[in-house]
Amino acid sequence: MSPLMFNRKPSPAAGYVWLVGAGPGAVDLITMRGRKALSQADVVLHDDLANPELLQICPAGCEFLYVGKRAGQHSAPQDEINRLLVAHARAGRRVVRLKGGDPTVFGRLGEELQALRSAGIAFEVVPGVTAACAAAAAAGVSLTQRGLASAAVFVTGHECAGKAGPALDREALAQPGATLCVYMGTRSLGALAAQLLAGGHAPDTPLLIVSHASLPSQTIRTGTLESAGELACDITDTPALIIIGAVTAPNRAISPGQSRLQEPAHAG
Ligand code: SAH
Repeated sequence: MSPLMFNRKPSPAAGYVWLVGAGPGAVDLITMRGRKALSQADVVLHDDLANPELLQICPAGCEFLYVGKRAGQHSAPQDEINRLLVAHARAGRRVVRLKGGDPTVFGRLGEELQALRSAGIAFEVVPGVTAACAAAAAAGVSLTQRGLASAAVFVTGHECAGKAGPALDREALAQPGATLCVYMGTRSLGALAAQLLAGGHAPDTPLLIVSHASLPSQTIRTGTLESAGELACDITDTPALIIIGAVTAPNRAISPGQSRLQEPAHAG
């Protein structure tokens, strides 16, 4: 059987939204289902982290709307993105909302789903490879490991001022049996490290910082909680994902602070 036959869902009628995870950057790390959605799209709303080469999968005449949000430069407010999704679907189009990594992880998916549900628009969420998994794969470490880490926690290093909801108790994240995967964390790494040390984590707790995971420009830096602040100062190659915890120890072969370029395992 052709692998293309696995998704047996009939093609949806017009007026439908797919919220697709583009994966961490490499074009071949999107799912087959995500590719199929792109190949049927009339309009794609995309942002910075999704590889722009993926747009080549779309049919001729497909409309592309850039709605990226780099830190501090909100080019399209979330309400506007919600409005566009609903308006294009109501106009009878097949819409793809393409998001970096996995849409359910720090992707403002909840707000978009709420808008679609309120408007009665049919949708499907298509998962993707999230940055934490891509970074772990790049570094050759396991996020959970028998006897070493029985939890992997996805946490944001960036908390918007005035954001709604309970503030996170960062000291409480210092669980020895958990691996911390920090998204959007390079600028605040020094502060987070201080909070984890105050919460009881050992100063020599190892960590990795993986920039551009899955891309040819990928780099991996190693350090410890004690050296984290200093290490973070040097980081200009973002996006970067920080993995903190004992599972990163096998990567000690690289000396602390040193960065290295890893050739992708399957180039081309
Ligand atoms: N939905 C995305 C996360 C969006 S938040 C996902 O599932 O991956 C954006 C953060 O993701 C960045 O600040 C960075 O911490 C991380 N990130 C995204 N792509 C990355 C990549 N290729 N390498 C390292 N980190 C990445």
